[in-house]
Amino acid sequence: MSKAKVYISKAIPKPAADYLEERFDCRTWDGQGAASRERLLEELAEVEGLLTASSVINQELLDRAPKLRAVSTVSVGYNHFDVQAMKERGVIGTHTPYVLDDTVADLVLGMMLSVSRRLPELDQFVKQGRWQRGVGLKEEHFFGFDVHHRTIGIIGMGRIGEAIAQRAVHGFGMKLLYTSRSAKPEVEQRFGGERRELDALLAQSDYVVLMTPLTAETKHMLREEHFRRMKPTAFFINASRGQTIEESALVKALQNGWIAGAALDVFDPEPPSPDNPLLAMTNVVTLPHIGSATAATRDDMVMLAARNLAAALLGEKPPNVVPELAHLV
Ligand code: NAP
Repeated sequence: MSKAKVYISKAIPKPAADYLEERFDCRTWDGQGAASRERLLEELAEVEGLLTASSVINQELLDRAPKLRAVSTVSVGYNHFDVQAMKERGVIGTHTPYVLDDTVADLVLGMMLSVSRRLPELDQFVKQGRWQRGVGLKEEHFFGFDVHHRTIGIIGMGRIGEAIAQRAVHGFGMKLLYTSRSAKPEVEQRFGGERRELDALLAQSDYVVLMTPLTAETKHMLREEHFRRMKPTAFFINASRGQTIEESALVKALQNGWIAGAALDVFDPEPPSPDNPLLAMTNVVTLPHIGSATAATRDDMVMLAARNLAAALLGEKPPNVVPELAHLV
């Protein structure tokens, strides 16, 4: 029996490439970055399985891929899947939860420390030779805000939210507030966390961490009225997706001093335009969407994505089908 055809839209590490090549007839994009949309659509005519990182899987793509049976994304977020269109076509979609939780949570704590203790700003201060004498007791110039023993409010208490809570509460002695669609009795027990309505969480937290998936419900979930509810001494951290907030409202909040600062791993659009006002603010830490970007974790994610794809194409139950398409396996 001939092997199923698989297209890999971005170069992947050798172990995962070998794993897929042993089982399938694979073609891999060998240019810079990921295959362009045009190229991707051209490649899909005979393909049964697609391994991708962020390609939008919509009706247009499905129409160009009549044999497609499974799409495996190397990410936990799958907002680039049109799950309704995939459901109608019976195309299985998989993602990579769990393996990145600790890595993303580490980064979020790093973002909190960076913005509150002004690490990027003061790094530049030293490197540019502007550090002329020692730090005195009144040199507010260098002062930041504490992270330890303050209040963290996590919006979206899921897998990654829990890993953040673990670090914040058990490492930094923070008080934990959270919002989720459902109550999390285990989180409340393990971390002494308290569930709040969104408005109360915003008003009571020193660090507001947004960690929901991007869905129709969470798109632009934080707008001007929400940033206005935060404390003027509070920091906003976004490691979810750029579109979960109205970015212009965040800009306004920072320009008007409604909040103290922000640390952002995600933007709308990505990369941000060079004239995005956030890029010129010293109290905003900006990162290029690196939540899961360590070598070890990315290797794990790619291997998990390869296993998910293989299982789906070989008629086995993939370990991580996205919930909306779970009935297809
Ligand atoms: P998860 O386990 O599914 O957790 C998501 C949480 O968000 C759940 O607790 C869910 O509540 C909550 N939620 C969903 N809709 C909500 C709403 N409308 N209001 C309030 N809470 C809501 O997902 P995860 O693995 O933690 O990942 C979360 C997201 O992080 C991903 O989808 C991705 O977009 C993002 N992410 C970003 C990076 C990066 O590089 N920056 C890396 C990894 C992940 P219930 O439990 O009550 O349903």
